Amino acid sequence: MNRQRKNAVLYILVAGFLIAFVGVLLFVWIYFSSMREMHQTTRKLYEQPFAVANAALALEADLYQIRGSLLYATLIEADRKQLATTVDFIAAREQLAQQKIAIIARSYSGDQQQVTQLKQKLALLNQVRDQILHALEATRYADANRLIETQWTERFNEVASLNEAVLKNANQRATQYVNESQQRLEKHTTHGLTYAALLLSLFLVVGVFVAWRIYQLHIEADKFAFTDFLTGIANRRHFIHELESEVRRSQRYGSAFAFAMVDIDHFKKINDQYGHHAGDLILQNFCLRCVSALRTSDMVGRLGGEEFGILMPMTDLHEAARVIERLRSEIDHSVMSDHGEQIHYTASFGLVSTSQLSEQQGLAHLMKMADAALYAAKQQGRNRIFIANH
Ligand code: GH3
Ligand code: MG
Ligand code: MG
Repeated sequence: MNRQRKNAVLYILVAGFLIAFVGVLLFVWIYFSSMREMHQTTRKLYEQPFAVANAALALEADLYQIRGSLLYATLIEADRKQLATTVDFIAAREQLAQQKIAIIARSYSGDQQQVTQLKQKLALLNQVRDQILHALEATRYADANRLIETQWTERFNEVASLNEAVLKNANQRATQYVNESQQRLEKHTTHGLTYAALLLSLFLVVGVFVAWRIYQLHIEADKFAFTDFLTGIANRRHFIHELESEVRRSQRYGSAFAFAMVDIDHFKKINDQYGHHAGDLILQNFCLRCVSALRTSDMVGRLGGEEFGILMPMTDLHEAARVIERLRSEIDHSVMSDHGEQIHYTASFGLVSTSQLSEQQGLAHLMKMADAALYAAKQQGRNRIFIANH
């Protein structure tokens, strides 16, 4: 019994440990998969849409700077030396612009036709730029200014509108990546939570089952601890415990109760004559008779062998003697059949009341008096009740 209970506790511990372990694994999985997802999304964003958007914006800025330097050279009517500086500056910007175009060409996920167009428009813009530089070289500043304000601006606007399209696409792509990633993250979380809920339910089911099992085992254990296996009534330990409580209660409140010690007569002979099995049946039969003859508040316990105790709370000696006499008489006037054998048995009773005890006398004395009374009943010929006389 004890081992079963230990096993049940062990099962819940093992199940709890396993479930907690799986729970931790689940948490680690959710954590790392979310981190990986976020890391991948960030990398993708920086490799593609962000890189493209940055390049497109920087390209536009480079072109503005080229425009600015052309306009400045025109307005100050640059001499040879100043023009040489302007040409160097524009060449450096141009190189940067080409790098931006290369990034866009490599990472752009939209229509590649747009990138080709962008390159073509930039080439046209560069042609106008060269015309402006030629005009400046020939000191035709008014021509240069006109070219900047008309053709260069026109070409630049074409580049800018294509750039706009590229930026828009990059933004859309970025939004798409973020949305997709968010969906994947939500899926992870939902999966994780579902598994966690399943684990929790499993733990609850196992927990409830084991708790129910332990409860059952407790009840069984209590039954074994308090009842006599053969007859199903209280065993000696339980009965004496109750008797002791009743003695204390009686002493505290002055409410007397009656106690009878019973022994089946010539039981050894019955065993010898009809067999041990018949003897067992008599013990069971006696208990059934006691239970039906007594009140529910009374209690019967097996003190050992064929010896029993009957506890009758709130009952005076006179009333107890009447009840016990009825029980004795019923037993005496009945026969019990076992395998066709008609078996008759009788019992002797030693009756005592707590009203017969002095204040100092307790359970031990009560038992001694009942035992003496039972002995007297036996001595006087058995199948009778003897009421203790102190
Ligand atoms: P008395 O009238 O003086 O009480 O005589 P007795 O034979 O009843 O008393 P004794 O103490 O000599 O014998 C009791 C017998 O009860 C001996 C024992 O084998 C038997 N006994 C004890 N427990 C059980 C049991 O559980 N089942 C059966 N069948 N017999 C039991
Ligand atoms: Mg006996
Ligand atoms: Mg006996």
